[in-house]
Amino acid sequence: MKEIKASEFEQQVLNSDLVALDFYSTECPPCEALAPKFESLGQLYGNDIKFIKIFRQENRELATSLGVSSSPTVLFFQKGQRVGEILTGGIKRKDLIKNLDSLLPQERVKKIKESIKPTVNEYDVAVLGGGPGGLTASIYLAQAKLSTVLIDPQLPGGQVSVTHQISNYPGFVEPVNGYMLSHYMSEQAKKAGVSFKVAVDVTSVNLFDKEIVIDEFETIKTKRIVISTGASPRPLGIPGEKEFKGKGISYCSICDAKYFQDKEVIVIGGGNTAVEESEFISKFASKITLIHQFDRLTANKEAQEKLLNNPKIELILESEPRKFEKVGNKMLITYEDLKTRQLHQLDSDGIFVFVGMMPNIDLFADVLQLDKWGYISTDEDMKTNIDGVCAVGDVISKKYQQITTAVADGTIAAIALSRSFN
Ligand SMILES: Cc1cc2nc3c(=O)[nH]c(=O)nc-3n(C[C@H](O)[C@H](O)[C@H](O)COP(=O)(O)OP(=O)(O)OC[C@H]3O[C@@H](n4cnc5c(N)ncnc54)[C@H](O)[C@@H]3O)c2cc1C
Repeated sequence: MKEIKASEFEQQVLNSDLVALDFYSTECPPCEALAPKFESLGQLYGNDIKFIKIFRQENRELATSLGVSSSPTVLFFQKGQRVGEILTGGIKRKDLIKNLDSLLPQERVKKIKESIKPTVNEYDVAVLGGGPGGLTASIYLAQAKLSTVLIDPQLPGGQVSVTHQISNYPGFVEPVNGYMLSHYMSEQAKKAGVSFKVAVDVTSVNLFDKEIVIDEFETIKTKRIVISTGASPRPLGIPGEKEFKGKGISYCSICDAKYFQDKEVIVIGGGNTAVEESEFISKFASKITLIHQFDRLTANKEAQEKLLNNPKIELILESEPRKFEKVGNKMLITYEDLKTRQLHQLDSDGIFVFVGMMPNIDLFADVLQLDKWGYISTDEDMKTNIDGVCAVGDVISKKYQQITTAVADGTIAAIALSRSFN
């Protein structure tokens, strides 16, 4: 794996046959999750394709000239020309593979695939998802002497790792940095003996046979499963959102706020996350316009007071976004004033969307019993409708989604499952 500076771009990238180029940043959990995937694919495809990384913060001009506006971003080049997709955000191994395969002749791709040896590993319990719920469950399970594997497509930590400060998790007198809190939890799990399979693609999950396939070639056989896959930011679902995701539209202030130093930003939302994250973004941005659908913010009082006293933040209430566009380097939003039904436009350097969450259940939605909002139904022991499968944390049907409640769910599931082995 070669690391370059902007001055070497022409020689190392434009003058090479085939290149995969990773723009990364520090303090960027999705960049850290990408690094081991990029590294391992570099070993697999390295004879045919050059794998290069470049530190975006120190090479901003080059990044901007290539249209790279969030980290990580992977670009592909063939004989100096841009090819393939622009991959950003929580980049999946399978999307990297799709683009790498498209650069090579079919015969060569076949040879590379044949060199991968399938493996099978067995554990007592597999925990799917390494947020606070999954980490807590895995700590208890490992301490109960059950062989436990924790599987996550990202690095462990979940939503906590991208939250700048937590002030309501007991045990810390001062607010604790979310990244550090998740680091302590995952170090504790490692010390307890949990095996980590992180930054992997979860290819398939069979909850009945208790078989999980990761990265397409490793099968994990297990006796019990804990689902702790949490929730992800809910998209608005309006034109331009998909197109400009990671290219002007962000869902993670910890990852991207630092790129808006002295710039103007729009935040969509008015709940706790939108209000607290606006406060964080204002450390960098010169102006924030927060657009919210109701006539008042729905965040807690303390967060609202802080925001209303922040001179950098302006509110547009009773308005909803209708469309995102890009004009030059600017993001243009069209929003509707819900009182007058008139459409208005506003431009900015970037847009952050914080309009709630949705459960991560894609891999098992068809076999699990869900509530009417799509969250997994459990009993008081966190058991689902499938024998030997528990679910915990933000992915389950419950009233309050907090770190403490996810930790409590993880505790209950682990104790209940441990007893089921007796
Ligand atoms: C910006 C923000 C601020 C917040 N602030 C606070 C706060 O101050 N205090 C508080 O108590 N709570 C806060 N919360 C809520 C809190 O973070 C969540 O309630 C908590 O993280 C839920 O934990 P979890 O383990 O259920 O899931 P998550 O933290 O969502 O973790 C789920 C994990 O599962 C992984 N995953 C997803 N799909 C799969 C799959 N198919 N297979 C395997 N793994 C998968 C994800 O990569 C992730 O690592 C905040 C949330 C946000 C977004």
